[in-house]
Amino acid sequence: MAKIIDGKLISQQIKDEVKDKVAKLSEQGVTVSLAVIQVGNDPASSVYVRNKKKACEYCGIVSLAYELPEETTEDELLALIDELNNRKDCNGILVQLPLPKGIDEEKVLDAISPLKDVDGFHPMNVGALSIGKPGFLSCTPAGVIELIKRSGYSIEGKECVVIGRSNIVGKPMAMLLLRENGTVTVTHSKTADLKAVAKRADILVVAIGKPKMIDASYVKDGAVVIDVGIHRMDNGKLCGDVDYDSVEPVAEAITPVPGGVGPMTIAMLMNNCVTSVDLQK
Ligand code: NDP
Repeated sequence: MAKIIDGKLISQQIKDEVKDKVAKLSEQGVTVSLAVIQVGNDPASSVYVRNKKKACEYCGIVSLAYELPEETTEDELLALIDELNNRKDCNGILVQLPLPKGIDEEKVLDAISPLKDVDGFHPMNVGALSIGKPGFLSCTPAGVIELIKRSGYSIEGKECVVIGRSNIVGKPMAMLLLRENGTVTVTHSKTADLKAVAKRADILVVAIGKPKMIDASYVKDGAVVIDVGIHRMDNGKLCGDVDYDSVEPVAEAITPVPGGVGPMTIAMLMNNCVTSVDLQK
């Protein structure tokens, strides 16, 4: 039986730590704030935005909410970001994706000041991560590192295989595992013999966006398996990129979906809001 890595529990610990740090800053007269911008009313985005506001409230972080109409132009959005970049009472800026058609997402994300980029998507922060300088870490991969370490597994010297090379998960994940002294292999849709490569992993991180694709035939006995994927099945239930029932018997430890990586992303966002106070000093 694999150990179940409990993302709900670990994310709660992190939020409680953030809450303490925010309270200490407040005693020193420092307020931590996050601006959350949503354009349009995509239902999934509204759920994410609501959850982020709830987490801010829990941690004592002031959330500045901007719910802009679908017709908002790129120039209007850029003007708001410019205003927030210059406001002293705003520490972090988050633009909920996806943005409506006609707005260039890359241009918008690049317009956020790297010192307020709590999602960690700005090229300056991506670059800082790759050369080991201080900056914001992309929330989901940073959450994966916390899950592994706080569950008692060391990354140093381990064979780590990341399946997926997206800019928001796979690539920063690989950089973070490398920073923890793992021996890292990044795989993707053109990888020859994915099974053979994945089976080398002591730590296997899966972020491919394909429901239940990774079964036990990809997993070494005793591996720690982290499933970043999230999908809603026809029966309404959630599943990951890993076939949990197949992999659980061979893994040393595994994250469930839901309740694994998912809750960590918002917890790490809250943590980045506190980091922003230090970076802005
Ligand atoms: P992307 O679609 O951007 O990237 C998927 C990656 O998987 C690509 O690099 C692609 O390779 C690779 N891939 C696709 N098919 C295969 C295959 N058959 N074999 C090997 N590699 C393959 O997805 P994201 O990184 O954005 O997200 C991945 C998953 O994580 C999704 O399920 C998403 O919903 C979830 N997610 C969850 C989050 C959370 O908070 N829990 C946050 C973000 C994402 P190539 O580059 O060659 O095309």
